[in-house]
Amino acid sequence: MTKTMIAVDDLTKNYGKKEVLKGITEHVDQGQVIVVIGPSGSGKSTFLRCLNLLETPTSGTVSFEGQQLNGLAEKDLDQLREKMGMVFQSFNLFANMNTLENVKLALMKVKGLSDAEADEIAKTQLAQVGMLEFANQFPDSLSGGQKQRVAIARALAMNPEVMLFDEPTSALDPEMVGEVLSVMKDLANNGMTMVVVTHEMGFAKSVADQIWFMADGYVQETGSPEAFFANPQTERAQDFLGKLL
Ligand code: ADP
Ligand code: MG
Repeated sequence: MTKTMIAVDDLTKNYGKKEVLKGITEHVDQGQVIVVIGPSGSGKSTFLRCLNLLETPTSGTVSFEGQQLNGLAEKDLDQLREKMGMVFQSFNLFANMNTLENVKLALMKVKGLSDAEADEIAKTQLAQVGMLEFANQFPDSLSGGQKQRVAIARALAMNPEVMLFDEPTSALDPEMVGEVLSVMKDLANNGMTMVVVTHEMGFAKSVADQIWFMADGYVQETGSPEAFFANPQTERAQDFLGKLL
């Protein structure tokens, strides 16, 4: 049986009078990789941040594993948020901590693990993204791609059930994009449920189970990458893809 991890129902988000999300109803199944694409300003980041209630929806509901998140007490919400790892365009590492300490911090502060327990998990995750040999280095001495791999390891260390990525490679020099996408591809192949906002169409084509095309506050169309890229249904998507060529 397919298990639904995230479900949103008629989700809207306004900033003041500006309607950014105008009614989105979609769901993400366990193990699925959803790639969200669409023009800048179409609400992709807002949508992603609504999934873990970093943004409070104006109306509609967001559920995680069948449990509605809107209206939960902050403490319960925090517990559920731990199950959704998030990686941003700007790596958000702590500059005053080395790589290992960055990954260990939440394990100790949030999960309450001992130093030794956190150490073991952090080293395992750093090894998985190929960053263990940089454990003692500070973020300033790492390349963008290396920083982003540490940020991914930090999110994975919390043992999330879903990973949300918001343009994880957009701030990287071109030669570093590949190493980050390859870590994400490994994750996908290992069965992680993922929602990825990206402009990397090669990644979208080869890794996505479904493309969600967003524009003007709506998910305009969804489909397999094969179907979407070969035969986009809406004029909005045709126009968007046309501009990429
Ligand atoms: P995308 O990620 O697709 O580029 P965003 O979700 O960042 O789009 O933004 C969608 C729209 O919402 C934009 O017009 C943006 O200016 C606006 N917006 C995003 N965040 C805020 C905010 N905190 N306050 C006011 N407007 C916002
Ligand atoms: Mg964005």
